[in-house]
Amino acid sequence: MNLYFDYNATAPLCEESKQAMLEGMDVTGNASSIHQNGRRVRQKIEQAREEIADFFKASPAGVIFTSGATEANHLALCGFEGRIIVSAIEHDSVDQARTDRVVCPVNAKGVLDLEVLEDLLKEIEDPTMVCVMAANNETGIVQPIEEVSALAKKYEAVVHCDAVQAIGRVSLSWECMDLISVSAHKLGGPQGVGALIMRKEVPLKAQLRGGGQERSFRSGTENFLGILGFAAAIKKARNQNWKGIKDLRDRLEERLAKQCSEASFLTRLEPRLPNTSVIAMKGVKSATQVMSFDLAGIAISAGAACSSGRVKSSRVLRAMGVPEDLSECAIRVSMGLDCEERMVGQFLETWMKIYTQTQSQLRR
Ligand code: PMP
Repeated sequence: MNLYFDYNATAPLCEESKQAMLEGMDVTGNASSIHQNGRRVRQKIEQAREEIADFFKASPAGVIFTSGATEANHLALCGFEGRIIVSAIEHDSVDQARTDRVVCPVNAKGVLDLEVLEDLLKEIEDPTMVCVMAANNETGIVQPIEEVSALAKKYEAVVHCDAVQAIGRVSLSWECMDLISVSAHKLGGPQGVGALIMRKEVPLKAQLRGGGQERSFRSGTENFLGILGFAAAIKKARNQNWKGIKDLRDRLEERLAKQCSEASFLTRLEPRLPNTSVIAMKGVKSATQVMSFDLAGIAISAGAACSSGRVKSSRVLRAMGVPEDLSECAIRVSMGLDCEERMVGQFLETWMKIYTQTQSQLRR
């Protein structure tokens, strides 16, 4: 049976999202049309917008639907007329949005260096946006977003937070963020839909122009079904308890550490997402491990998985100062709420099998 340990890449579609989308499939209309059909679709989209806004303590007008977090990040960064400071561990969709970005380093624990951030904020005179993710997709490390925000506010900078991986999994103070990027598919919603949440009205230049939808911040007919599924997933994310998964992840790490002294845990640090573990198997490249686990029916990933199957050394682990010989042998295990103890047993058995086989090959 296939074992899925790659929730940070995408989560299975939840039943509530599926139902909401199935119901939406019977409704025909373009939300911009003024006839009854159009009004019906508009009413459902606005209801979804209200539910999502409520989750982020934002006003409904502040929810700008997009095709996902990549687009939301581009709208925030490329749409902002001023300087951008990004952390060294941002997702590629933030890191590559603007070539003129200023990069703020992280320490060996993968946490933003607040002293350097303050120095950068002091230096920059233009309107500035600080972009720091809530939790990293590769390591799970949670960033001190409230402290980042306090510093940014001291220098009148806008705070943008890519909260994709943290939503529902750790408690976050939305009040300290001005702009929030969200993706539905990490929450059990459908792929290809997300939002930029504007908790504060920031003058952003639209990246897609045309019909003037989404208050002209993002033209294009709304992804009606996707938005329905997105709202249902957000609703579900309100009442989730990840404590059991944190304990399961911790047990996986403890058991593996006991079984094999050569297993290294690159991010066994707190605060960290409750579901994520980064494990290095000495001498065995990540891509080889991903393939071997796949042959055994286990889905895990090497570093950032959402880069079209490309396997490249991890910029995030490099920024933390993890030596190349360890980072190139690292895999990411990311669990979901439906993961169980027996899956940990199956994973550990497979890990040991791959390790023993490859070590005997290396000795030959
Ligand atoms: N930011 C982070 C932190 C992510 O993990 C991802 C998805 N890997 C994205 C942005 C991009 O999201 P989407 O797939 O919705 O474009």
